[in-house]
Amino acid sequence: MHKKNKHTYSHRKKKASLHRTAAFLTAVVMILAALVCGAAIYIHHLSGRPKTVIHALNNENESKGPTQKLKQPSRADRIHSQAGPDISAPQAVTEKPEHEKTAGLQKPEKENTGDGKDQPQGKTVYITFDDGPCSTTPQLLDVLDECDVKATFFVTAQFMNDRELVEQMKEIHRRGHKLAVHSYTHDYNQIYSSVSAFVEDYQKMDNLIAEATGTHSKIFRFPGGSNTGYNSAIRSELLQEVKNRGLIYHDWNAYDGDCDGYTGEKLIERAVTECSYTDRSVLLMHNIPGKETVIESLPEIIRQLREAGYSFDIMSDDMKPIQFV
Ligand SMILES: [Zn+2]
Repeated sequence: MHKKNKHTYSHRKKKASLHRTAAFLTAVVMILAALVCGAAIYIHHLSGRPKTVIHALNNENESKGPTQKLKQPSRADRIHSQAGPDISAPQAVTEKPEHEKTAGLQKPEKENTGDGKDQPQGKTVYITFDDGPCSTTPQLLDVLDECDVKATFFVTAQFMNDRELVEQMKEIHRRGHKLAVHSYTHDYNQIYSSVSAFVEDYQKMDNLIAEATGTHSKIFRFPGGSNTGYNSAIRSELLQEVKNRGLIYHDWNAYDGDCDGYTGEKLIERAVTECSYTDRSVLLMHNIPGKETVIESLPEIIRQLREAGYSFDIMSDDMKPIQFV
């Protein structure tokens, strides 16, 4: 009984030991299995990751690559864009010669139109006589001939009837001077009362010029100048109308002061001084009755200006205008 018990005890002990061993082995196997699985998962994960890493690296490389590729394309673009300008350059080159040709063609034309004729030498005075012709115009024309100077006449119809006016303008034109519109009536209140009133007055004078010379005037001078207070109410509309008609108005940058009481030496001095401020002067003078001092002073003005290196020319239709506004 005791043995049996002993035996039973030892048997139980053995059994328990076997159970423990089995449990231990099972645990070991499970741990090993778990380790193997973990390793497998890890390896799998690793085997996946390297792809990602490689991809990522590739991406990095690609990101460098594409950047490089992008840079290269951008270089290529630059080359292309250089090629663009290069392409547009040839276009510009092909355009340029045409341009240059045009400019080349335009230049001599300009030089031949009177404006540029004396400009290479630089110093030019454009003498202009406003408000005439009048009874003293023949005398003025003689003085201009004696001085061998051509001038520009901004004419009006104030001092003679239309028949006499046309005849006088024919003579001015025949002597090589330029005729341009100033005004038919020279009545500021009337011509600046409206744009249509100005146009009507302008056309009346221009038609007489065309009758005398065969050509309509393209240049003119506003009575009182472009910035006169008389035209302020209609000025912007008036300037637009003038522009629409392709007409060019000319103001002046030198004045002899003949209508401000200047006579003789003072008039000469003022005219010469004001012309000397620039190499390209448009000198305002008047050809009206009672201003014979202008005609008498003219030879000395011309002499002094010539001495100062100026030459004289008539105004051309395409010369750059001096405009107050
Ligand atoms: Zn005037």
